[in-house]
Amino acid sequence: MDFELSDELRALQQSVRRLAQDKIKPRAREIDKDGNYPQDIFKAFLDAGLLGLCIPTEYGGSGAGILGLAIAIEEVAKYSNTAALMLLLTRLPTGPVMIAGTEEQKATYLPGICDGTLKAAFGLSEPQAGSDVMGMRTRGTLAPDGSGDWILNGTKCWMSGVKEADWYTVFAKTSEPSSRTHDSVTAFIVERAWRGVKVGRTDHKMGVRGVDTGELLLTDVRVPAANVIGEVGGFRLAMLGLNAMRPIVAARGIGLAEGALMYATEYVKSREAFGKTIADFQGIQWEIAKCAVDIEAARLLTYRAAVMADAGKFTKEYVPYLSMAKYHATELAVRASSLAVQLLGAAGYMEDHPTEQWYRDAKQLTIVEGTSQVQLGLIARGVLDRDLWWD
Ligand SMILES: Cc1cc2nc3c(=O)[nH]c(=O)nc-3n(C[C@H](O)[C@H](O)[C@H](O)COP(=O)(O)OP(=O)(O)OC[C@H]3O[C@@H](n4cnc5c(N)ncnc54)[C@H](O)[C@@H]3O)c2cc1C
Repeated sequence: MDFELSDELRALQQSVRRLAQDKIKPRAREIDKDGNYPQDIFKAFLDAGLLGLCIPTEYGGSGAGILGLAIAIEEVAKYSNTAALMLLLTRLPTGPVMIAGTEEQKATYLPGICDGTLKAAFGLSEPQAGSDVMGMRTRGTLAPDGSGDWILNGTKCWMSGVKEADWYTVFAKTSEPSSRTHDSVTAFIVERAWRGVKVGRTDHKMGVRGVDTGELLLTDVRVPAANVIGEVGGFRLAMLGLNAMRPIVAARGIGLAEGALMYATEYVKSREAFGKTIADFQGIQWEIAKCAVDIEAARLLTYRAAVMADAGKFTKEYVPYLSMAKYHATELAVRASSLAVQLLGAAGYMEDHPTEQWYRDAKQLTIVEGTSQVQLGLIARGVLDRDLWWD
């Protein structure tokens, strides 16, 4: 067992740390205020070679894997969860393609992610089907001309990056609409430019405002048979993709917690009250200590989960380990940002400090890609099934 990062990963961590301090930190508040997609940050990621971190070298990426991407995301999330989400979106929609896509799909859709010419988004949720994804109503039916192509109809919602994306990984029911079996759902690659594909309403969000979230409307969209990802009826792919994503979402939480605790610690060291600094009070020190313990525990869970995912260990038996990283790190983000607001007092509640923004941004993380309750359910299932057992 080795707890040290490799030389390459440490170099990546150091270079992204510098990029985050120089380019993201000064822009974070502005991005939150205007809510516009930060093209300058996208360009900075492109120039630094970060858009293809988790994509294999043969498709133009750097092959740093899920651990490499998680480490980069942890650094940028110290200042901006919008920037962290931009990097996350290089993996969420491409994951199913990398796991089960054809060579042709990989060669067509992955290199553009690495060189910044293509962006992608992930469409699973629907207005009536979030945690209960099997309740989806988007329908895929075989084209009547016998070509093997599919016709998609339906509405996806809350899709991150929907407006910016050039292509989408979309899940649709391909058997009876009322079916709840896993072989009733299929994944497709859908291009934005195709007839019948339209971006609908976009949402007004509480946080993470620089990346849009909204609806994708699909009306009689003809999808070539070659754009089915994996097998028809391969819903398992959605779960495999999401399982492998757990450490990446977790990294958004860890970075946010680290940024918030460091900021609040600097503040209490200089804020005076009752003839001392606030940092001199033991009650405050214990809060800082508890949060630091939480952060390090979350990092260990997350790095382990990333190493597992990179080793292809994201099938059912590994789910509890992956889910607990996501659960712990994202709940930590909420606790740490709340503590940071509290430690700054009134100042922490005001826009003069980033604490209130971290607090708003953190809350998204316990909802997206499987809520905390869903993760607890998965962890409990793992224990009940003895996938996680200690003898
Ligand atoms: C900012 C943002 C970005 C998003 N981006 C995307 C995206 O890019 N692509 C995409 O497909 N989706 C996206 N989503 C949607 C997200 O995946 C869903 O919000 C999430 O899966 C939860 O679904 P829901 O909101 O319908 O909540 P619901 O499923 O309605 O749940 C409501 C509450 O009930 C709880 N609950 C539900 N079922 C159970 C249960 N069995 N046991 C105990 N408690 C339960 C939940 O934990 C939650 O607290 C995004 C959401 C947000 C907020």
